[in-house]
Parts: sequence; structure tokens; C-alpha cells
Amino acid sequence: MKLSKRIMNVKPSATLELTALANRLKAQGVDIIGFGAGEPDFDTPQSIKDAAKKAIDTGKTKYTPAGGIVELKNAVIAKFQKENGLEYRLPEVTINCGGKHSFYNLMQVILDPGDEVIVPAPYWVSYPTMVELAEGKAVILDCPESTGFKLTPEQLKNGITAKTRAIVINSPSNPTGSAYNRKELEAIAKIVEDKDIILISDDIYESIVYDDFKFCNIANISDALKKKTIVLNGVSKTYSMTGWRIGYMAGDSDIIKGVENLQSQSTSNPTSIAQWAAVEALAGDQSVKDEMLAAFRRRRKIIVDGLNSITGVSCMHPDGAFYAFPRVSGIFTLPRWPEVKAKYGSKGNSSVLCSYLIDEARVAVVPGIEFGNDDYIRLSFATSDENIKKGVERIGEAVRKLA
Ligand code: PLP
Repeated sequence: MKLSKRIMNVKPSATLELTALANRLKAQGVDIIGFGAGEPDFDTPQSIKDAAKKAIDTGKTKYTPAGGIVELKNAVIAKFQKENGLEYRLPEVTINCGGKHSFYNLMQVILDPGDEVIVPAPYWVSYPTMVELAEGKAVILDCPESTGFKLTPEQLKNGITAKTRAIVINSPSNPTGSAYNRKELEAIAKIVEDKDIILISDDIYESIVYDDFKFCNIANISDALKKKTIVLNGVSKTYSMTGWRIGYMAGDSDIIKGVENLQSQSTSNPTSIAQWAAVEALAGDQSVKDEMLAAFRRRRKIIVDGLNSITGVSCMHPDGAFYAFPRVSGIFTLPRWPEVKAKYGSKGNSSVLCSYLIDEARVAVVPGIEFGNDDYIRLSFATSDENIKKGVERIGEAVRKLA
């Protein structure tokens, strides 16, 4: 069947594909440990599930306004005010079908063909594709580990052209876990403050930060910066609600209106029941986050220490999110690596390593090449302590065979 050129260029999300492969193997009885999934492994808190049940029982099962119910918008506004010190009015907030949908809609609304969006690499796998689906051009700026995987002001300055429409800041980042502190955001702000460029702040991992890291949004730097910033967030990661599909967005009211118009002609409203559950998530007892954060903190240490004990692997401590992003290029210099390359074909080294690890270690990890850097792999530590220990042990064993 002939498909549109638009869709022929779209490949499935590597992380979702890998998770599906791991689940398929598990269903076939293979003892596979999955480090692929970008979702917390906890159940959605009971209070949130109860709010959804109540919504069903009280008939909140009909269309809502395309951009979401006013109760949820107000909960989002209160959240921004309380947790971020950012003031928004109702016309500056909209609700979408997940954070991914927020970004997708935003691209459709702000980009004309050929407009450029600066995407620092390593990047979340879906950013470049969603830019391209809106006929924009993703300008990838490579941010090495030596700068903490973060964009430097000089780099940004050199990357901006007359066609730059927006810059993506994802802090803490998927896949690296790196996060920008206020000083770093101020330096970036200086480069863009006199330019007509939109700052997209994807804060989906905002509440998962470690040690003394203090989350800051570039919109906090000044009122002028806030006017340029569109903040994207959602309940998926913070409240373990990935399946409920609720994201939200705040910023310029013309952009928000554009998103709501698009939504009214495409998805219509996000699920009414999930919206009521999200009201409870944002406005209810916030201690539900503490238990998850404590588990992530513990697992971060187990996985980083474990990975760093493997020859050819070095792993930074992520500032936030639940991903370890170890450099594995040392493995590509081990004596028996050429045999692995020969067996798994002409893919990038990180993809070859991932195939090897599935076969040899029965461990599923995501190749760094999918995030824009072939020297790394990504492991989600949103899985039990036991799985992490066992999985890292298996990776170590498989790598030792290459020495
Ligand atoms: N932004 C980043 C960086 C992500 O990693 C994800 C999910 O993996 C999202 C946004 C969107 O999450 P969701 O669509 O589940 O709300």
C-alpha cells in the first residue's frame, strides 16, 4: 500500500520498540531483564485511582472542552505558582494527551516549513521526528560528556540562524539525566534574550532530582524570558501515570489557543476520567512522590556503581530522571569485539552492543545512537533493585567474555 512521504520517514520510537521486544521475549518464557522502559515501575497511587473511579461514577464521562477542564487548568496554575514561582492565567494553560502530544502539538503550531529547532544531543528520541512531522528542521547540537551533556552558551550562539524558531531545553534530560542549574540557564538566557526565539522547557522529569540539585526553569530568570518560554510538563513520570495520557503546557496565549484549535480538530479532549485523576495528582497529597523518589535514589547508586565496575564502561551520576547513560566505547576496543560486530552486522556500535546483550546477557538496553550518540547506551533504572543488580551483573559477565 502506498503511504504518504510524511509517514514513510517516521520510524517507530526505539524505546517503545525495545520495551515491546523485551515484553515479547518475557512472554515466551525468556528470562530477560528490561532496562528499556521510560516509565516508573510503581502502581499509580490509590488516591489518584480513586479520583478516576469517582469521575466514572459521577458521570464525568463525556466530552470536555478540547483543551481540558477548567478544574485541571486551575490545578496546573496552582502547581506552577506553588512549585515553580510562575504565574499563569487560564488562557495561558492547556491540557494535552500526554507530554509527547504537548510537544507534537507545539511543533504543529509554531513551525512553518524549513523553520529550525535547536535540539541538544543526546536528545529524547521523539524530538527530531516531531519537528520533522511539522516540516521543520531539527538542528542537532552535540553536547559531550565533558560539558555534562549540556549546551554551552558559545555552542548555542553558533547554532542560531535567521531560521531558528525554537530551542529545546530538557532538564533533567532523557537520556542523560543531566540538569541545568540556574547559573547555566542564565548564561543561555543571555544568548537568546534579544532574539525572537521560543524556549521550550520540557520539565517532565522536574520532580525526580537527586542530592542537592535545585530544579530551575529558564522562565524563572526574568519576565522577559518567561514570555518567550513554553513550559511542557505532565503527570506521567511524577505520579507514575504513563498510561493515563495527560500532559500540559503553559505560555503565550496565542500559542495555547493554536494548540487548542488543533486539538479540537484532531484528538478532541484528553480522556475526561484521566483529567479528573490528574486533578487529584496535582492538587492532592504530594507525599505520594516521596516513596518513588527514595527508591530511585537508592537504585541510582546501585546502577551507577555497578556499571562503573565493568571494564570499558564509565557512568556519570545523573542529576535527575531515572536513566543511567554510561559511556561504553571502551567495550568497542576489547579483543573479541570484532567478532560481535561481524555477527550483528553493519549497525552502529551501540546497536550492535544492544543486540549482543539481548542474546548473551538477556538484558535489554537502548542504543545511544537513538539519542544521537553511538558511544553510549541508556538504561532505565525504573525497575526493582534486584533486577538492577542481576542485570548489571549479567552485562558484566557478557562484557568479560570479550576480553
Ligand atoms: N519528554 C521527555 C523528555 C520524555 O522522556 C517523555 C517520555 O518518555 C515525555 C516528554 C512524554 O511523556 P508522556 O507522553 O508519557 O507524558
